Amino acid sequence: MTVLVTGGTGYIGSHTCLELLEKGWDVVAVDNLSNSSPESLRRVSELTGRPLPFFPLDLRDETALGQIFGRYAFDGVIHFAGLKAVGESVAQPLEYYGNNLQSTVSLCRAMVRAGVGRVLFSSSATVYAPGSPLPLGEDAPTGGCTSPYGWTKWMIEQILRDTAAANPGWSVALLRYFNPVGAHPSGRIGEDPRGIPNNLMPYITQVAAGRRECLTIFGGDYDTPDGTCVRDYLHVVDLARGHVAAMEYLLEHTGTETFNLGTGRGYSVREMVDAFERANGVRIPWRMGPRRPGDVAAIYANPAKSRSVLGWTAERTLEDMCRDSWNWQRQNPQGYET
Ligand code: NAD
Ligand code: UDP
Repeated sequence: MTVLVTGGTGYIGSHTCLELLEKGWDVVAVDNLSNSSPESLRRVSELTGRPLPFFPLDLRDETALGQIFGRYAFDGVIHFAGLKAVGESVAQPLEYYGNNLQSTVSLCRAMVRAGVGRVLFSSSATVYAPGSPLPLGEDAPTGGCTSPYGWTKWMIEQILRDTAAANPGWSVALLRYFNPVGAHPSGRIGEDPRGIPNNLMPYITQVAAGRRECLTIFGGDYDTPDGTCVRDYLHVVDLARGHVAAMEYLLEHTGTETFNLGTGRGYSVREMVDAFERANGVRIPWRMGPRRPGDVAAIYANPAKSRSVLGWTAERTLEDMCRDSWNWQRQNPQGYET
């Protein structure tokens, strides 16, 4: 079994490459390194003791991508590559539509040409229409996205559904991630955002590491138990294992299926800060700031379908997420640059 991983040097991609290799499958990774370092996969190879061919290329370069498909016989593809910063996508919509959509079309063309018809896609809870009752099942309405980033996920889901419908024998899983956090327990790989982190957990770990002074909590007046936003955080190792389960499912099924990957449990920003302090014995100074535009009060998954169909559940606790996030940051205060 040989799997092509796009966006393989990134945060979720590198953790997934590790799980695929541990499963005994062969992995080939590509990435244009616009938001990651090849050091992540060097460490994955070191941790697993297995080779991991990596090709630095942009997915929009169809010639280069075609050469990779010519060189290896892939049994399946996991498509992580894409730009993912919500705020940046509002400021630079064409960058986001251009990169995320063209990359996907280019990948699908290469797959059709090579006769490879099995793909997992990194979608997101952001495709769900705001205001749906919680927890969100896969059949909740989608659309009404609040950013170009969200719309790219929504559109790519449609591109993949249509491509699968036009190519009998294709099998597609649209994986809607909730909020991945944490790191491999070794502390050798983890999340390494460039610049000021947009996401909560890397901001907290950088405050803990002394790289930032204080966390700003974006809004304390939401209609939630403590007034701060509630999200469904899941450990990145659980998420990576969800890809192994979904790929095993695709080996047995054709057509398109959608799966939520989340825990089903929401935690507030205040609860996250408290849990991080408790798990690691460090203090996280914070101040209350205004709401961040586009944020919704609460969102969490109904993961029942992933449990019953894929046999997958998120097993790691909030304490595991906090401990592993800090373990990675403490060992690598400047990320992969150290
Ligand atoms: P990441 O930025 O660490 O990884 C994405 C990788 O894609 C990066 O390494 C980047 O260099 C690469 N890339 C971007 N455009 C490319 C192109 N044109 N050609 C080749 N490589 C390209 O992000 P991540 O957190 O690992 O996310 C992986 C996927 O999961 C993304 O599609 C993201 O939108 C999705 N996702 C992430 C989250 C999250 O909270 N991290 C939540 C939901 C969905
Ligand atoms: N958040 C925050 N301060 C930060 C970063 C995030 O209070 O510096 C909050 C944010 O408003 C949201 C939650 O933490 O309620 C999770 O945000 P993140 O960006 O990590 O994920 P997403 O918005 O995609 O759910």
